Amino acid sequence: MLTDVEKMLFILLALLSIGAAAAGFREMWQIIQRGTGQLHLERIIPRALQALAIYLTQRTTLKTRPLTSAIHWGVVLGFTYYFLVNIVDLLHGFAHDFDAQLAQLGGLYDAYRLLADALSVVVLAGIVYFLLRRFTLPNRHALRFHDNILLHPKAAAGAIAHDSLIVAFFILLHVGARFLGESVAVAQYGADAYMPFASAVAGIWSGLNADALHFARHICWWLALGGVLVFLPYFPQSKHAHLFMAPLNFLTRPQRRSLGALTTLDFADESLEQFGAGRLEDLSMTQLLDGFACIMCNRCQDVCPAYATGKELSPAALEVNKRFVLKDNWEALAGGAETEQTLAGGLLSESALWACTACGACIDICPVGNEPMFDILDIRRDSVLMQGEFPAELGGAFNGMERQGNPWQIAEPRDNWTSALDFLVPTIAENPDCDLLYWTGCAVSYDPRAQETARALVKLLHAADVNFAILGERERCTGDVARRAGNEYLHSEMATMNVETLNEIAPRRIVVTCPHCLHNIGTEYPAFGGDYEIVHHTELIAELIEAGQLPARANPAGWSNVTFHDPCYLGRHNDVLDAPRDVLSAQAIPLIEMPRNRKNSFCCGAGGAQFWKEEEPGEQKVSLERYQEAIETGAETLAVGCPFCMRMFEDARNELAGGPRVLDIAEVVAAEL
Ligand code: SF4
Ligand code: SF4
Repeated sequence: MLTDVEKMLFILLALLSIGAAAAGFREMWQIIQRGTGQLHLERIIPRALQALAIYLTQRTTLKTRPLTSAIHWGVVLGFTYYFLVNIVDLLHGFAHDFDAQLAQLGGLYDAYRLLADALSVVVLAGIVYFLLRRFTLPNRHALRFHDNILLHPKAAAGAIAHDSLIVAFFILLHVGARFLGESVAVAQYGADAYMPFASAVAGIWSGLNADALHFARHICWWLALGGVLVFLPYFPQSKHAHLFMAPLNFLTRPQRRSLGALTTLDFADESLEQFGAGRLEDLSMTQLLDGFACIMCNRCQDVCPAYATGKELSPAALEVNKRFVLKDNWEALAGGAETEQTLAGGLLSESALWACTACGACIDICPVGNEPMFDILDIRRDSVLMQGEFPAELGGAFNGMERQGNPWQIAEPRDNWTSALDFLVPTIAENPDCDLLYWTGCAVSYDPRAQETARALVKLLHAADVNFAILGERERCTGDVARRAGNEYLHSEMATMNVETLNEIAPRRIVVTCPHCLHNIGTEYPAFGGDYEIVHHTELIAELIEAGQLPARANPAGWSNVTFHDPCYLGRHNDVLDAPRDVLSAQAIPLIEMPRNRKNSFCCGAGGAQFWKEEEPGEQKVSLERYQEAIETGAETLAVGCPFCMRMFEDARNELAGGPRVLDIAEVVAAEL
């Protein structure tokens, strides 16, 4: 189709364009490699299959915003198909009599044309929707940030919208010109049943003669494929790079034992001078890749409890800022130079840094596999370990863990709570051959409300004739608070001590009433040499009911209705979602779900060491927002499975002067005994 001059011109432009784009992507790769750690390529085939499945099914995108996500899916499929369409069009331009050769493919070529025609319309309609959504539709507000969020000056000045416009203009030009080119072909050669949409618009060319149609086809070809050449050098700079970076992110990110399992720091390595992330190059390769993969959709912001309650934290702004700071330091990073920009103050404000509850919702929801929570916790590590800066109240918790073995800073025996029982709760010294070790955790040892849960659980264990014991004085805080607050050194000391104790005892099985203990012992202690079978008490109770060791009853206590709050570190982080519901169901207790439930649960506000400090300034307390949601269900009981959720909601209940009573699942079942 093309003349020799056009062919030469296209080849020249293609060489320049591909060369510029390749240079951009090479620099991007060099930047990613400035990060610490590695991109994970072990078990490459299952990883690649998983990344491909996510790409094709868009299941991570379809989790929320159903209309927008469905349209995005159509655009993804269309764009993917366009890789083939572009190759065919390129050959069409360069090869002699290519139409006739394609026609020999018969039905296959018909199907190809039909799909290309339909997907062109899907992509064009989708991009128009995305433009309307960004600039005029009511749901455009989801793409904005609260005024108190720290934003890179360029982002604040509208660079995100500008980038969106460029990307949208390119797609409309590329796909639109190709679509119009096909309609010109229809005008030239007659209606095509396999290009119904192009045939429908072909009438617009009806006044043109054969030469003009031929010329129009050339113009469309050049706009469609020449447009790609013009856009390619901008590709690495634009958010459209997520097209490649998102699958690469899923392909190479670490396989964690659970969504929020943190990496350890090697304090024995004397060559290490930096702990945590102070500057861009201290982030891991995966975290730098996140910045390039981010599509700036703000879905993580939608689910962030800190953002929802008006704090200065937005995980989306963090990733957006990262992208802009990466761009500011592009040459320095690609060239191997040190950067000056500190992450604290560059990616997020100090208040934002300490507002994160480490709930993991941002990780769970991100359609491109980003993990903003880990950036925050790594910046906290730098702040605590390198700068010695952290909220003053956390100092008390750290001291308590160091000196008394618990953040409450109480030196009393850990098993005082057992004295109110009319049966003996043996320690491991008294019952070394137990089948089950109850790791009580600090809350049970020192919070009177959590002690009621513990007593309810041991009553159930006693009734079920389970051979169990507690550690008593040999138990120490797991170190969870220290770890989420960035004090990795203290956490590593606590973890090492506890693993030594547990390895010596070698428990057959461990049960916990605290999801934070479950998370630390179950998913983070393996990195310290401790690998144990561990269950949450709701799982154990469900098992005992199933085995007939605890009665399943038809609600003799007459519970009218109960709503259940999924603790973040039970459900989202460790996938325990059904057991609490199974327990309620076995007792024939009616369950009313809150709108945000299971993995989409909303934090109670205690996690990420928030329990041990003043909540950062905002419009509302996280616990109040969640408790209000429980009130709106009309439930009389708010069931929980975590001593920290319990305390937060008890306080919220006092503050709101009413609302459902708060009970642990163990207390609900113990009331049925
Ligand atoms: S972990 Fe939770 S609180 Fe922290 S940034 Fe993510 S969504 Fe927000
Ligand atoms: S981190 Fe993920 S969820 Fe958040 S804005 Fe970026 S792409 Fe969207």
